[in-house]
Amino acid sequence: MSNFGTEQDKVNCSFYFKIGACRHGERCSRRHVEPTTSRTILLSNVYQNPRHLNPNCTLTDAELQAQFDDFYQDMFVELAKFGELVEMHVCDNVGDHLIGNVYARYRSEADAQHAVDALNMKWFDGKPLFAELSPVTDFREACCRQNETNECNRGGLCNFMHLRLPSPDLARELQHELQVENRERRRDQFAKDAFLRLGWKERIAAQEAEASRQHLPLPPPAPRDWRQGASGGNWRKPLAATAPS
Ligand SMILES: [Zn+2]
Ligand SMILES: [Zn+2]
Repeated sequence: MSNFGTEQDKVNCSFYFKIGACRHGERCSRRHVEPTTSRTILLSNVYQNPRHLNPNCTLTDAELQAQFDDFYQDMFVELAKFGELVEMHVCDNVGDHLIGNVYARYRSEADAQHAVDALNMKWFDGKPLFAELSPVTDFREACCRQNETNECNRGGLCNFMHLRLPSPDLARELQHELQVENRERRRDQFAKDAFLRLGWKERIAAQEAEASRQHLPLPPPAPRDWRQGASGGNWRKPLAATAPS
């Protein structure tokens, strides 16, 4: 179906498909097709903007940004633990379905699934996290274009993403750390793959070389092959001959 998830699609909800959340939620008249695999995850309602919680909030813009930067860094570092993180975005909308949403995109579907499984067991800021795979593939499409030029007249109630951005210095620092970490992750994976391609003698030799390099005790010897075991005897002998009489 060429119009799947577009506004012309009368069956599937274009908001859920593009933005991962729709204001009608489960009562939506169109279908929300939850992906069974995805590289994108959604953590719903995590960031709490003090100005949205309390209209009389007295924080200055700078204080608000500093508080957000702390949140952003915490989230980013945590989400990068589950695999190769590609991007992370935080919504500053106020509508129930988008408020405080955090989206993360990983390089592989396996990493995204791992993150969802692990995050659903965790708490953040005194509340349990709720993580799910999300159909969002293109954040350019999901974001409100008017908001980027400060021209969105729907404000926080807009149904497209209004992202809150970290300070440029923090963004740069986190990107740098992420690149270093991802490079190490790929190198580890490469070493692991290379090890798995070895034959068993080479694997034992590699383990011994690594152990002696690190002055570690040798790994315990592999259990003896059952074909060489002492229990052997002659298996061709008829069973009846060995059974107790
Ligand atoms: Zn919908
Ligand atoms: Zn907007």
